[in-house]
Amino acid sequence: MTVPFLSLKDITDKYSAETHEAAARVIDSGWYLQGKENVLFEADYAGYIGTRYAIGCANGLDALIWILRAYMEMGVMSAGDEVIVPANTYIASILAITENNLVPVLVEPDIATYQIDDTKIEAAITPKTKAVMIVHLYGQCAYTEKIEQVCKKYNLKLIEDNAQAHGCLYKDRKTGSLGDAAGHSFYPGKNLGALGDAGAVTTDDQELADAVRAIANYGSAKKYVFKYRGRNSRLDEIQAAILDIKLKHLDEDNTLRRNVASRYIDGIKNSKIILPVVTDWDNNVFHIFPIRTIRRDDFQKYLLDKGIQTIIHYPIPPHKQECYRKWNNRSFPITERIHNEELSLPMSQTLTDEQVHYVIDMVNGW
Ligand SMILES: *Cc1c(COP(=O)(O)O)cnc(C)c1O
Repeated sequence: MTVPFLSLKDITDKYSAETHEAAARVIDSGWYLQGKENVLFEADYAGYIGTRYAIGCANGLDALIWILRAYMEMGVMSAGDEVIVPANTYIASILAITENNLVPVLVEPDIATYQIDDTKIEAAITPKTKAVMIVHLYGQCAYTEKIEQVCKKYNLKLIEDNAQAHGCLYKDRKTGSLGDAAGHSFYPGKNLGALGDAGAVTTDDQELADAVRAIANYGSAKKYVFKYRGRNSRLDEIQAAILDIKLKHLDEDNTLRRNVASRYIDGIKNSKIILPVVTDWDNNVFHIFPIRTIRRDDFQKYLLDKGIQTIIHYPIPPHKQECYRKWNNRSFPITERIHNEELSLPMSQTLTDEQVHYVIDMVNGW
């Protein structure tokens, strides 16, 4: 048997009739940008996340860049100011900060949850700190009340990177509605994926929403009038139409992912493997299913021999990357340990019962 890490083909085939119809509707309409498909998806997505505004843009990295850029245009922060971010995040969260000439301040995660360690945030704050960017990494909620209290105490913006956690809940609120603003990615492999690149910003703040929308459209809120030196980062109508369909199925797809995760957690019994800690099933949408083992590379080879594809999220932490050379000698032991030990098992809403059983049997046989 072979088990792919993720079959985008299977995921797309599931809603094939609906997405073909939506794409055909846009193709035949003669209107491809900034039209009614964007209006509809933005309204539906804002309603789903629970914010007043959702603004579509070209991709998730841009969504994060535009949030920070808008805060700079609003005078909330300026070049050289600091943004606290987890050291073990995907590089895009950090690129969004440096792209704006802001300074990322890396904070270690908690080894049990892989989310930013909320007890270490306050010590990282300086007079230049203007925001905390939390990342709901691997699909698990990173928000804690303590983080919000620290942000309030020091008057910091709380920004969420919700690229991996569409549909994730904190109590009865969705991630993406917990802070001042959130960036979302609809990269095809994300829980809510487009058939190409797409992203969005959500917020309750009208000034921020207006600024983000203008910046992503050449800096213009009114045709041929330019308030900002903006960029072209719009969400196209075909992707908006496809996303609106997939949004309607997101909760059922996330439930299927949780079922796979729960079967892995019940079935995997191997003392060499550390399973993810789940305290509340609602606050994890299992963008990936991360396990840890000190013999990670052996384990990955063994699984591949058995036909099971896995991926490391991520092999090199941001502070060891060449693009951030000046951090290369710094030490973040928890982050480094995660990057050395993490392996993601196959996870998707289209895995069959037989595939899940097979993965469990093979993992237990290692
Ligand atoms: C995917 C991802 C992004 C970037 O999204 P793109 O749409 O690929 O630009 C940002 N942050 C995290 C944590 C991600 O996983």
